[in-house]
Amino acid sequence: MAEELPDPDSSPYWEGINIEELRYQQCNHCNISIFYPRSICPNCGKPDPIWQTSKGKGTIYACSVIHRAPPAYKEDTPYVVALVDLAEGFRMMSRIIDCDTNSVKVGQEVDVVYRKDNTGNRIPYFTLHNS
Ligand SMILES: [Zn+2]
Repeated sequence: MAEELPDPDSSPYWEGINIEELRYQQCNHCNISIFYPRSICPNCGKPDPIWQTSKGKGTIYACSVIHRAPPAYKEDTPYVVALVDLAEGFRMMSRIIDCDTNSVKVGQEVDVVYRKDNTGNRIPYFTLHNS
């Protein structure tokens, strides 16, 4: 999400976004997919997860339409915030864009898209598959 600032653990993630690659981590030891980026596996505690690239295809796990937003996002309302389960087995929060906000439902397939925010940074969002 736009609010999350780059830090050492997540810089490969943001470098990926900048070239329109959705990166996530995978544990070397227990093989779980990890997101948001971190230096230690949350499942088994082993360090140094490896970076992988997602195909950017997922399914909506949960979603809600935002009508009242913080001032920075007020002009965007209404918009849809969703938890998306990516095919590779990790979950991320983002917006579903370019859609009728009332048509977004749990279980719909989505594809990642990249848009620049008003500071020129690319941000990953999702659109409804085949829409
Ligand atoms: Zn692990």
